[in-house]
Amino acid sequence: MAQSNEDSLFIARIFDEALTKGKSYPDLQDLCKQAGPRLSGSAAAQRAVDLTESKMIGYGFDSVYRQEVMVPHWERGTESPLVVTLSESDKPIRPMPICALGGSVAGDINGKVIEVMGWNELSKLDPKAIEGKIVFFNRPMDARMVYTFGAYGTCVDQRVFGAIWAASKGAKGIIVRSMNLRIDDYPHTGSMAYSDSVTKIPAVAVSTLGAEELSALLKADSNLIVHYSITPKNHPDALSHNVIGQLTGTKYPNQYIAVGGHLDAWDLGEGAHDDGAGCIQSIEVLRLLKTLDYTPRYSLRSVMFMNEENGLKGAKEYARYCDSLGQKHLVGIEADRGAFAPRGFFVQANPEQLKHIQKWLPLFEEYGIYVIKGGGAGADVGPLQRLDENVVLIGFVPDSQRYFDYHHAANDVFSSVNRRELELGAAALASLVYLLDKYGV
Ligand SMILES: [Zn+2]
Repeated sequence: MAQSNEDSLFIARIFDEALTKGKSYPDLQDLCKQAGPRLSGSAAAQRAVDLTESKMIGYGFDSVYRQEVMVPHWERGTESPLVVTLSESDKPIRPMPICALGGSVAGDINGKVIEVMGWNELSKLDPKAIEGKIVFFNRPMDARMVYTFGAYGTCVDQRVFGAIWAASKGAKGIIVRSMNLRIDDYPHTGSMAYSDSVTKIPAVAVSTLGAEELSALLKADSNLIVHYSITPKNHPDALSHNVIGQLTGTKYPNQYIAVGGHLDAWDLGEGAHDDGAGCIQSIEVLRLLKTLDYTPRYSLRSVMFMNEENGLKGAKEYARYCDSLGQKHLVGIEADRGAFAPRGFFVQANPEQLKHIQKWLPLFEEYGIYVIKGGGAGADVGPLQRLDENVVLIGFVPDSQRYFDYHHAANDVFSSVNRRELELGAAALASLVYLLDKYGV
């Protein structure tokens, strides 16, 4: 079905409401400031559950409820900066900002450093050259890639698998260059993996500026010594929740169009872009449609997924739970790429479904949205399609140039969000949900 004048008028009303009477910006402020840094298992994560649940109840959605899920509970503890001591000079070097990678074991590490660009290089080195040393993974994000998530994808393996690779060669610790194209002093955390077959070694990220400095120092003095100390703790799994709000469909009440983000966030900042924005925009989608008296045919859901960052437990539980009740999803939409100006949607579906959705693109163009194409939707909605291949998945794609300036770092705070960009994103998502509800897939 092609778009009609009625559709462009209704979409204009959605954007008008979002840009003049939108609630996403104050709601995001509440989430960032009242709940705070909300890593899975923390008290702040439970405050975020309570807060989003009461927001959706306050907006009068047809049903609002939480769903229990057990999640990992890792706590950062304290961390020293990275201190460099040169082998033949007592000139002090600026301590470099670091942070523990999420899930790292504790440790007080002192030793020589081997810099590599990744596993390719490390795998060819003699273990004798690595043993007892610290491996420094310094491959930068590829600046030639205009879509920065692509650039992230080319080097995040160092953060995820670096500790396993380095330990397999006898290293006692790793330092990873932060995943950020900008050269600055914010270390960026993120998930990492261990293997039971090798020693679990303490893993930290250094800021991009620190990484550049360390690399230059190593070129001049390969025998320099670095020291870092981190004290994270792994607690037993904790009880937490997904939070779900719903506008019940009038024609297909047991078929669902879900839009969601993840409620947990890394602990260094406030999780404003990642992913407070996506959660709050998902709530705003339902609020906008309800405020404009739209009568949905399918049941529309706003889903706050818990534990995307270090476990994906909430996403798996949501899919399992819906499947166990025979709740069929038509579409799962994820907003988890920051609160930046909307540019498009990535669709994971068969070619006919993609073509059908692409026909709506002219309706979006005047709002600066020019791309609807095949591509990955997001981690939280993935399990829906793994349980039912007919589910269409869609990822919201805002402009990506600034996302990695903030991603998993201490500057991912409410003040880094632009009000209009956040509101435009919510309106774009609401417009998409309207079209999906009206025309199906
Ligand atoms: Zn995220």
